[in-house]
Parts: sequence; structure tokens; C-alpha cells
Amino acid sequence: MPKVWIETFGCQMNEWDSQAMLGTLVSLGWEPSSSPDEADLLILNTCSVRRKPEEKALSELGYLLKLKEIKPHILIGVAGCMAQRMGGELLKRFPALDFVIGTGQVQNIASVIDEARYRKVVATEIDGCVSTLPTFRSKPFKAYLPIIFGCNNFCSYCIVPFVRGRERSRPLKEILDEAKKLVEEGVIEITLLGQNVNAYGKDLNEGYTFSDLLYALGELPIKRIKFTTSHPKDFSPQLIEAIASIPQVCHWIHLPIQSGDDKILKLMNRGYTIAQYKQLVERIRERIPDVSLTTDVMVGFPGEGEEEFSNTLKTFEEIQFDQAYMFAYSPRPGTAAERLPGQVEQAEKLRRLKELVSLQNEISRRKNLAQLDRTLEVLVEDEDPKGKGYLVGKSRENKTVIFPGKKELIGKLVWVKPKEAFLWGFKGEIVDEEGKG
Ligand code: SF4
Repeated sequence: MPKVWIETFGCQMNEWDSQAMLGTLVSLGWEPSSSPDEADLLILNTCSVRRKPEEKALSELGYLLKLKEIKPHILIGVAGCMAQRMGGELLKRFPALDFVIGTGQVQNIASVIDEARYRKVVATEIDGCVSTLPTFRSKPFKAYLPIIFGCNNFCSYCIVPFVRGRERSRPLKEILDEAKKLVEEGVIEITLLGQNVNAYGKDLNEGYTFSDLLYALGELPIKRIKFTTSHPKDFSPQLIEAIASIPQVCHWIHLPIQSGDDKILKLMNRGYTIAQYKQLVERIRERIPDVSLTTDVMVGFPGEGEEEFSNTLKTFEEIQFDQAYMFAYSPRPGTAAERLPGQVEQAEKLRRLKELVSLQNEISRRKNLAQLDRTLEVLVEDEDPKGKGYLVGKSRENKTVIFPGKKELIGKLVWVKPKEAFLWGFKGEIVDEEGKG
């Protein structure tokens, strides 16, 4: 059997693209390989959201292409957002590369590979939705389910609308059928994916919204439903109600704030003010008191001075997120922010990042400490690589939980009493397996 190896950079949507390419190839007789040295087909599924992952992928590509000198029969391709952004330029820069497959061509991976045996291929058209595809998942009990592709928001720093196209929602029935199939296969947790899940259905003009989709999924025997990512400007009161009232929907909301300053939010074209964001958080916490709130933020956006940065620190103090993904702004080619005046020196961006990370780490630790009196439902995902005899899983609030247990529990739901709180989550003990203690 020929072997295929895929390395994935970036977000969950990229992870799903990799699972779908792998699933399609496995259904055609390919075998997944854990090492590029043993594979006949090597794919780098890349991310363009910041400069660093692009640089990492390019240097990795240089190394992989050397393998062709000793094994000329192997095929090497680049997929994902960088493939979409750079297209044929990648072939010019790396003449030994065999194919470039963009974000809208995942469903055509088999034909791209067939063609790449005879000639160089650049497949970067973005057309319509990818419908149901076989997926190959390393954890059979967890699945991603894309519900909407692309984004219409054009945040001024973001490359996504350029590399993933405009919003295309999948039909409700197709999503429900796929969810039913996943449940039949034994999937316990489904994570609904989209660059902006809250915009689900708008482009279909059939009158149903993301909360309608959640209610429909809630009728199925799914144990857990998670979703990401939510845009604050599209977070409706109906959606808060759906999360609060559908038992399977987990109480974890990822709500990117991006900056804590109104001037910067305007320059980012985010479509909300800090007052509106805080009001939304208040409404969510009022209706879902045990919600875990996580966010994305960047420092050093063009025009961010000391005052704007201290507003971000102040906003973080006030909101008290459970966790945050924090980055230094990285200009992306072709975006509006790349041309904005007031670009911030890299050293200054890193100084601000350090300050924000230190503040948020303290908040995360404190918030977790305050939850030691709870008992958490945990989906056991794996053995803990750092502790023999320990397992690691995720709670409904998407917190990492580590506890002693037998590996037979992997893929099951258990109840864990946290004993120690950390920045990243909890260490605890099982109080009951498969049910409330
Ligand atoms: S909402 Fe903004 S940041 Fe998110 S994918 Fe769309 S353009 Fe990018």
C-alpha cells in the first residue's frame, strides 16, 4: 500500500482539511504514515495567519524536497492557506515541488495527485462548499464538523477572506446527516467549525440561523457539542438562550476580542466597541454563570501606543477571561492593515506581549483556583505523556484535566474532582465513571 504523510499547521479548519484529505486517500487504498521518511506522498497543510507559521512551513518544505534527491518517485505537495495565497509562486520558488492545492480544492485531492504524477499542478479555485467527505481522525471519539466556509468580515489584519473566500454555509440537512453518521460511528464530541459560526445560514436565505442549527443538533443523541469561532458582533440573544438551554451544548465560548481599545478595534474593522463587547459578556454570564470564556488578542497593531495598550490591559483585568491566545501583530501581505501608518517596532510588540501574557496567566490561574469545588465531566483523550499512569482529557468548559486512570478509559466520559489548579487546567481524581458521582 502506498503511504501518505500530512503535517498540519494552524487552526482547526486546517486540521479538518487534513483529516478530509487523509480520509479520502485512505478510502482509495493509501495508508497513513507517521514519518515523512517512509511516505510516498507528503503534504504540508499550511497556515498564513501570521508570518511565523509560513516561515516554518517553507523551511520544512526545503528539507522535505531534499528527500526527492534520494527517492525521486515520491510526490510532495503544499496545501492550505499559504498554498492558496502563493499558488504558482511556490512552484517557481521550489521547482521540485509537485503540486499546490488550495483551501477550496480539498475534495479534489485524489485527482490532483493523479495529475501530479505527469505534470505540475496548481489547484486554487475556491468554488462552493465542500460537502461530506470521509475523514481520518486520530481520535475516533472526537470529530470536527464544518458548517460554514470562508468569511465576509474583512478585519483589516486578516488574510482569511482572501484565502478561504466568502461565507458559504452548508445546508442544514447535510450537517444533520453528517452528525447522525458521526454519532453512529461512536463520536462523543462534535465541534462545529467555521471562521464565524454565528453567520451560519445568512447566505442561504432559508430563514434559519446558527441557533436553529444548534436546536436541531440537540435533538440527536450527541453527548457533547462545541463550536468555534464566534464573532462578537453576530452573537445574538437567541444564541445565548440556545447555549443555555440545549443540554449537549458545552459551556465554552471562544469570543475573540482582538484589542481592548476602541480606536484600535475601529482600525481593525471589527464592528463592535469595548462597551458592546462587555455588555455581551455580561449577558452571557448572566444566563450561563458557569461559562468558560476564552479569547484571541493581538498587541502592537498599527496605531497602538501606550494608551491603547493600557486600555487592553484594563479590559483584560475587567473581563477576566478563562484563557487567551495572545500574539504580536504580524503584517500579512495584501491586507489593509499592512499599509496602515504607525507600525510598531518588533521589540516593543514583544514587550507588550510579555506584559499581557503575565497578566492573563495570573487571571487564568486565579479563575481555575476558584473552581476547585466543582466536579467536571471529562472526555478522556489520551495517556498523559508527562505522567505514567495518568490520563488527560477535556472538560465541557474545554479545560485540560489530568488524573490517574487506566488507558481503557480513553474515549469515555468520566467525572473528575479537581484537587489542584494550574494555569492550563487541573489535576484531579475520578469520582465516578460514565455518570455523575
Ligand atoms: S472574522 Fe475577521 S479575523 Fe475572523 S476570519 Fe473573518 S476576517 Fe479573519
